[in-house]
Amino acid sequence: MTTQTHGLVCAHHHLYSSLARGMPAGGAAADFLAILKTIWWRLDIALDLDIIYWSAALGAAEAVMSGTTAIIDHHESPTAIEGSLDAIADGCALVGVRTNLCYGVTDRWSDDQSLMPVGTTPRSMTDGARRGLQECDRYLSTGATGMVGVHAAFTCSDETLEAAADLALRHNTGVHIHVAEGDADANASMRLQSLASESWLLAHCVYLEQDMPGTIVHNARSNMNNAVGYAKPSTKTNTVLLGTDGIGADMVEEARLAYARLREFDVTQNPDTVWSWLQNGHELFPDAKNDRVTFNYDFADSPWHAAFTTNLQAFDVEIDGQKVLANCQPTRVDLDEVRAKSAEQALRLYERL
Ligand SMILES: [Zn+2]
Repeated sequence: MTTQTHGLVCAHHHLYSSLARGMPAGGAAADFLAILKTIWWRLDIALDLDIIYWSAALGAAEAVMSGTTAIIDHHESPTAIEGSLDAIADGCALVGVRTNLCYGVTDRWSDDQSLMPVGTTPRSMTDGARRGLQECDRYLSTGATGMVGVHAAFTCSDETLEAAADLALRHNTGVHIHVAEGDADANASMRLQSLASESWLLAHCVYLEQDMPGTIVHNARSNMNNAVGYAKPSTKTNTVLLGTDGIGADMVEEARLAYARLREFDVTQNPDTVWSWLQNGHELFPDAKNDRVTFNYDFADSPWHAAFTTNLQAFDVEIDGQKVLANCQPTRVDLDEVRAKSAEQALRLYERL
């Protein structure tokens, strides 16, 4: 009663959010911008390298336990920029998962560490953005797999967007960026049009006003959670991939939800559409196609079965010929220890909020 599949790819993750579960509430948020301010921008500024490392290790362990062997991560930690990508890489290496990392630059924090007023576009590159670009440059210069990260056009000056695009070109990679996730970023495609290329990775694209080149990552659960609306990925001409936007890395679960949301939008659609988005992950991460995941079910490789079967369990995972999950347990790390260390770091994180 098993099936073997290729390794799954999470095409847009935020491993630093692994410890956000259970964080003290920052007050009710009425819209997407308020969610960013009361949760994510409050969290990311409190991260340090130890917290980042254990967040990554926990997120990586949970990924392989779901059959996800490759993570494309987007990271921000404004008070711990230098070395942050190494901390994530090291945390993931502990588990054995493949990674494509970037630091997401932004000008939303001015040089005196005050948050930019909502509705204004930063005029020039801030020190934080400059250091973020340096972190991407440094990491990519080591030969590691990654991209140049940008938070989103609406929190960046044109100078920063141009510098990010230029740095990506120099490293022969793309820019990994949130695009039109909420209506505050609706003019993103206009500002990015002259910079973007097919190698760019465009997360969300809910409010995209005009087509732009690049691969779109659909994050169905996150979009619903933030009430930003439906991205209608089946209507786009771009290649579509699936991501979680930091809510775990269980890609079969994500595909099932993306399928239900797609059907709510267009009842003539079928599971093949969403499972093709899942398979498209191998276009960005071809190595994951060589990985082997054994599921506890005979039809895990059939979209028409998997779309309606809950509790699919990955119990063996091989990455690059090495077993990283055996009988549902990570083989390279003690899962209990990772959870215990992560719980310690979560308490530190909450004190720093
Ligand atoms: Zn995201």
